[in-house]
Amino acid sequence: MATQADAQELAALRALSARIGSNPHLTQAAGGNTSLKAGDTLWIKASGTWLKDALSDDIMVPVAMVPLIEAVERRDPAADKPQAFAIGALNPRGLRPSIETTVHALMPQRVVLHVHCVDTISLAVQADCEIKAARRLEGVEWAYVPYRRPGLPLAQGIAERLRPGVDVLILGNHGLVVAAETVTDAERLLHRVRSLLARTARTAANADAAALTALAGDSSGYRLPADVEAHAAALDADSRRMAEAGSLYPDHVIFLGRSSVVARPGEHVADVIARLGVKPAAILFPGVGVLMRGDASTGADAMQRCLADVTARIDITARLNYLTAAENDELINWDAEQYRQKLNAAG
Ligand SMILES: [Zn+2]
Repeated sequence: MATQADAQELAALRALSARIGSNPHLTQAAGGNTSLKAGDTLWIKASGTWLKDALSDDIMVPVAMVPLIEAVERRDPAADKPQAFAIGALNPRGLRPSIETTVHALMPQRVVLHVHCVDTISLAVQADCEIKAARRLEGVEWAYVPYRRPGLPLAQGIAERLRPGVDVLILGNHGLVVAAETVTDAERLLHRVRSLLARTARTAANADAAALTALAGDSSGYRLPADVEAHAAALDADSRRMAEAGSLYPDHVIFLGRSSVVARPGEHVADVIARLGVKPAAILFPGVGVLMRGDASTGADAMQRCLADVTARIDITARLNYLTAAENDELINWDAEQYRQKLNAAG
């Protein structure tokens, strides 16, 4: 840490990170990340760590920012492995910087917050997101960045859209970035943008836990989700239709796999597994609720709830952009994500 002012600001950022990480409408599991620029060093959340642990655990990694930005400008594949730019002497635990480090490095402001805000995502998955967001974000200096895989492709997408003065990015099929010179101003901007993008969620009926337990049977190992809110994706017919039609954002694919599995009328868990030939991380039972595979990670539970929270906020007439088959594949086969998932499972 270069100066005492930087140290104070990093402490403030850790406190804000813990607040953001504790709000499932802003981040889920190891998603989202925060950063502070101190001279030429970028302090960024480590890959696979959870923002909610920012006060109790050392989750911030120092990265040499100038060579990283130069690598993005050269389109050097090294920029896709930000661990190569971590400052070893200040990183005794050998943590890997977030996959999304380049997003933070490219924003010129000192403090950057990247969140998977459900209000933002519910807009960012819509085909006319840019037009709808423009109506809501009047007076905000913002830019829309169409979907790219996080890492170097997303960094290049941001570089193409970034204009001087922009301090808010809406990342298509992904989330929100806000940036400011201080932690206080960044938090204020986050809440301002979030309230401008806020959407009312459709309410769903209650899940039928007894019926779900019967559908799981004695030997499937399937269980109820960690959050009761997760059931809404199976209970609300429109949410279910949106979920079944494809993958809407990267962390869904990474933690739950492609799209969502919906049981057919009369099917129990064993029937669904027999039909698919695999055990999906989650199964949606129309009008009844959701069951999770017994070994599904806490990250999978967080993302199942996120799906319900996002789809409940999407207008039922909206046209949606789904990730393509190739985009799903590049997430599933992505080495950096496999690392993040492994840490998540261990944690
Ligand atoms: Zn993200």
